[in-house]
Amino acid sequence: KPEFAFIGRSNVGKSSLINMLCNHKGLAKTSATPGKTLLINHFIINNDWYLVDLPGYGFAKRSKTVQKKLDQMITSYILQRQQLVNTFVLIDIRHDPMKIDTDFINWLGESSVPFSIIFTKADKLGPVRAKQNAAKWMNSLKEQWEELPPYFITSSEKKLGRDEVLDYVGNILNEIKATE
Ligand code: GDP
Repeated sequence: KPEFAFIGRSNVGKSSLINMLCNHKGLAKTSATPGKTLLINHFIINNDWYLVDLPGYGFAKRSKTVQKKLDQMITSYILQRQQLVNTFVLIDIRHDPMKIDTDFINWLGESSVPFSIIFTKADKLGPVRAKQNAAKWMNSLKEQWEELPPYFITSSEKKLGRDEVLDYVGNILNEIKATE
């Protein structure tokens, strides 16, 4: 079954987003203590696709050795997994572009891995500033890339962007089924 991976810096709101997408409160463990996911978790959705919860990158409080192991696990999964059809990179909408995120995105692009961007915690800014920040963020990618990936503005708190992300996944699944 096709897999869609979710990744981002620790505390970006990944667990909350996964729970929102699955309509499930406790599927992915949310916590105020970042850096908890140390494994690649697969959640089956509608018996149709796998939502893949990847560990966060760039977590300062992890030891270098642990983070290095995780980075190896993440990169080999992304590069080698045949079922992986798209990687969602999560970005906290309040933050300006950070090197660790743009480095990761550039690596995906250079490796020809299909990806899209999910901005999280939009409720913390309100609709107007959320849109502005997302546009600013996407614009910064233009320095590196001619073509920009799709992006989604979400809030797990306010249940925003759920349908957009799930429709996007649904469309890709339909395309795959059509070619089978
Ligand atoms: P993870 O470490 O990336 O899995 O992040 P979590 O989902 O555990 O969330 C980290 C923190 O951000 C928690 O305190 C959440 O309550 C908070 N958070 C996550 N999503 C949202 C959101 O959409 N809006 C707001 N206001 N807070 C959020």
